[in-house]
Amino acid sequence: MAIERTFSIVKPDATKRNITGAINAKLEEAGLRIVAQKRIHMSKEQAEGFYDVHKERPFFGELTEFMSSAPVIVQVLEGENAVAKNREVMGATNPKEADAGTIRKEHALNIGENSVHGSDSLENAKIEINYFFTEEEIVG
Ligand code: ADP
Ligand code: MG
Repeated sequence: MAIERTFSIVKPDATKRNITGAINAKLEEAGLRIVAQKRIHMSKEQAEGFYDVHKERPFFGELTEFMSSAPVIVQVLEGENAVAKNREVMGATNPKEADAGTIRKEHALNIGENSVHGSDSLENAKIEINYFFTEEEIVG
């Protein structure tokens, strides 16, 4: 297995409830290293650009409103098999379907306000990292 980098977001529902540390602990316990991190408040346009792949989905408006409604923590995570490992520790999109011990099972409120984002492929991870970070901001 190779050392990979993936992109993560601690979403507004989590920053509002002051549980960013609890989420970071879960990531670190899973063996993921936070090699870049910043707190930002996304504009609606920035959220729309980030979620462009979902623009035809019925929840696009709700999703981009939510993601620009409060601060988020954008992160780069590094580790063995980081893309798949992060998806595993995140749990299923719908917290009702998420496995015990996952971030979404323990913290998500519902299918929309589900506490975390994680890249779904290495290719998308690179695109998403570049959307928010310069190379100088990532310190592995
Ligand atoms: P994931 O975040 O698990 O990769 P998707 O890429 O399918 O899930 O969806 C992106 C985000 O859109 C989800 O994390 C969630 O915040 C939101 N979302 C997905 N499906 C729904 C839905 N049916 N209703 C409302 N929001 C949704
Ligand atoms: Mg996705």
